[in-house]
Amino acid sequence: MDVEILACLEDNYAYLVRDEAGCAAVVDPGEAGPVLSALARRGLRLTHVFATHHHGDHVGGLPALRAHFPALRVIAHPRDAAHIGGPVEALAGDGRFEALGLRWRGLHVPGHTLGAVAFWGGDALFSGDTLFRAGCGRLFEGDAAMMHHALNATLGEVDDATRLYPGHEYTVKNLRFAQGLLPDDVDVREALREAESWVAEGRPTVGRPMALERLTNPFLRSHDARLCGLTETEPGVACFAALRARRDVF
Ligand SMILES: [Zn+2]
Repeated sequence: MDVEILACLEDNYAYLVRDEAGCAAVVDPGEAGPVLSALARRGLRLTHVFATHHHGDHVGGLPALRAHFPALRVIAHPRDAAHIGGPVEALAGDGRFEALGLRWRGLHVPGHTLGAVAFWGGDALFSGDTLFRAGCGRLFEGDAAMMHHALNATLGEVDDATRLYPGHEYTVKNLRFAQGLLPDDVDVREALREAESWVAEGRPTVGRPMALERLTNPFLRSHDARLCGLTETEPGVACFAALRARRDVF
């Protein structure tokens, strides 16, 4: 899938996806300017917004985008829809829908917000503030059990080849945290070296496969307390909660 990465605000990413007919969807437009510029440059018409959750740094561009494209369809989870403002199409059932000639799944992944969604279509997963490269979102509305289930059970369905496009560029800091937990882990060390060199070049670190995530993200390894470096805790939710608490103050 052709995914254009749009840097927004301080360290947010929005993502532009298009079809053959020149229609486009944008994921998490935190501001309108970069989206409108990309659409104009490529001669595309915006038909859909996929909102992973209701926070302003992910939907702040909506009013201006609606003004340019009055028929814009905004898709979100019903639990977050009311906080987004304006007409929103709430995902129903198991979150399956079609857009841009593709089948999508809006996977409900509560934890960061109660209506957080990860949008999965083609070979891309747009994970908002739920799953970051080597990290996960803070627990603002949900609890550790919810987020642990979202990351390991719900997103566990996503195949290894799918590319991860999260809501923020947090990769280097997250991998430094992971390296502190797993100082001898060669996959973490190599991923950190790659991410540091890409960031130094001004290149986004997103779009890497889930297989790499499953090797290097401590929050996807909390089934094994030893791998988390937390031998004093039980694996699973307790390990996840301990990791999240450590990362909150890292
Ligand atoms: Zn957020």
